[in-house]
Order: sequence, then C-alpha cells, then structure tokens
Amino acid sequence: MPRILDGVAIAAEIKREVAEEVRTLAAQGVRPGLAAVLVGKGAASEIYVRNKVQACADLGIYSDLITPLDTVTTEEMLDLVAALNDRDDIDGILIQLPLPHQVDAKVLLDAIAPSKDVDGFHPVNAGHLLAGRPALAPCTPAGIIEILKRSGIPIAGQHAVVVGRSDIVGKPAALLLLHQNATVTICHSKTHDLGAITRQADILVAAIGRPGFITPEMVKPGATLIDVGINRINNREEFDRYFAGNTKREAAFVKRGSTIVGDVHPKAFELAGAYTPVPGGVGPLTIAMLMANTLRAAKLRRGL
Ligand code: NDP
Repeated sequence: MPRILDGVAIAAEIKREVAEEVRTLAAQGVRPGLAAVLVGKGAASEIYVRNKVQACADLGIYSDLITPLDTVTTEEMLDLVAALNDRDDIDGILIQLPLPHQVDAKVLLDAIAPSKDVDGFHPVNAGHLLAGRPALAPCTPAGIIEILKRSGIPIAGQHAVVVGRSDIVGKPAALLLLHQNATVTICHSKTHDLGAITRQADILVAAIGRPGFITPEMVKPGATLIDVGINRINNREEFDRYFAGNTKREAAFVKRGSTIVGDVHPKAFELAGAYTPVPGGVGPLTIAMLMANTLRAAKLRRGL
C-alpha cells in the first residue's frame, strides 16, 4: 500500500513551530506582520486570502487586509506598495493574484521590497534561490521540500523529475530539489516522450494544471508522487474518469456539484511508494510556508 503524505498534519506541525517562535519574539516586543492585498471581489482568491488572514490570527501574526476596488490603477497600487514597504509593522506583503487586466502585475510585484516579498517572486529573491543562498523562497515549492524532509523521504542522489516550469512552482521546485542534491530534470509542454522521462523519476513533481495528466504508465513503481495540481471538475463524465467506484468522493461530488482532482491520475497513486493526495497534500503547505516566510522576514529585517 502506498504511503499517504499528509499535508494537513505537516502544515499543522509547521504552524505550531511558527506560533512558538512568534511567542518568543513577542517576549522581545516584536510582532511579525503581514499585509494581504486583495483587489476586487473574486470568489476563489477571496477565500484564499481570508484563509491566510485567519492563519495569521491563529498564529499570533498581525495582519492587515487591504481591499482596493477592482477599478484601481497600476499607479495607485504602486503607491500602496510603497506605503507598505515603509511601514515598520509590516514584514510581509502579499498581493493576491490574479489582478485586474489594467494593473501591471509584473511592475507591481517588482516594486515590493525584496525583504518583504514573502511570496518569493521578486527577481532578487529568485536570484538568491538560484545561488542557493538563504532567502524567501516561493511558498508552494518550499512546502514540497518540507513534505519530503519531514516524511523522511530521501532527496540527495535521487532523480527528481519536475513536470512544469512556471516561475512560481516548477522552476523554484526544481532549484530547491537541486540544492537538496537531487539529480533534477525539468519537463514542459515541448518535452519529447515525456513518459520515458517521468518513468525514471524517484520523485515526480506534477505542476501542470491538467487534471489527471500523469497516468499509471508514466510512473515508476515505488516512486514518490508530489501532486501540485488543483483542478476543479464539475461534470459527471469527468468525475467517473478519475473517481469511479470511490463512494466517499462521490457523496462529496453529489453534495457540492464539483470536486478537485490533481495533475496525477488517482490510478497512478496506486503504483507509488508515497504520494501527496489532492486535496490535503501540497495545498495546506502553501499557507503554512507563507506564515513561516512572514516570521523569517520579520527576523531577517531585524537581524535576528
Ligand atoms: P502554469 O500554467 O503557470 O504552468 C504549467 C506548466 O505545465 C508549464 O510549464 C507548461 O509547459 C507545463 N505543461 C502544460 N501542458 C503540458 C504538457 N502537455 N506536457 C508537459 N508539460 C505541460 O501553472 P502553475 O505552475 O502556476 O500551476 C500548476 C498547477 O499547480 C495548477 O494546477 C495550479 O492550480 C496548481 N497550483 C497549486 C498550488 C498549491 O498551493 N497547491 C499553488 C500554485 C499552483 P510550458 O512552459 O511549455 O507551457
């Protein structure tokens, strides 16, 4: 039976550690603070941001939720970022994506002070990551490393194959695995004979954004499968393709009218040595690592 890597439990463990350190800092008169900027009203990202703000409250981190109207301009957003960069009570700045089309996201993310860039997207932090220096690493990839390490899964010397090369998941995940001494291969939409490469993976990271894309014949038996994908499916035919016979999932699907499937086909998990489920695998780590990065930013800024 493959081992399930429980992201909920690992995230809870990290949050406990962060809360403990936040209490220690409080004794020194320091309270880490996160500014969360949510532009306009968008159901999906609103829930994400509220979960992040709630996590701050749970861990004793100060948070400020700022909600500009969806008519906001790039210039107004730049003024907001400049003000947050200057605020001493704010250690981390999070701008929830996507932004409305009139706002230049790249210009905006580049304007965040690298020392407060808790998402780890700023080119300065990307450079630190490339160079293997301690920095603020992107949360989801950092979470992948935490899952592997805390589950006792060896990384050094293993062949890690990362499918996906985005700046926020695939590329940083590959770099972090490389810094842990894995032998890393990065695949993408132009890769020839993808299955021949993924079948070599001891650790296979799927960050593609396509439901059930990694099928059983693409997996080496016993491999560790890290499924980053979050894909919502809401039609019956698709549901049956992935979850036929899964009565627990079916009850939830019927109740909600949708469910989430990762980038790995559930049948492929059966071949794995260990895997992260969807939901409950990588997802919970993203918020936990955001909290860890906010704490880290607070300490680094004060030279602690
Ligand atoms: P992007 O769309 O930015 O990147 C997808 C990558 O997959 C690209 O590099 C693309 O290649 C590659 N790809 C697409 N089709 C194929 C194919 N047929 N064969 C091989 N590679 C392919 O997605 P993200 O990296 O932002 O996200 C990936 C997934 O992770 C999504 O499902 C997203 O929802 C999820 N996610 C989950 C998070 C979490 O907290 N768990 C956080 C962030 C994302 P190319 O570059 O050539 O186009």
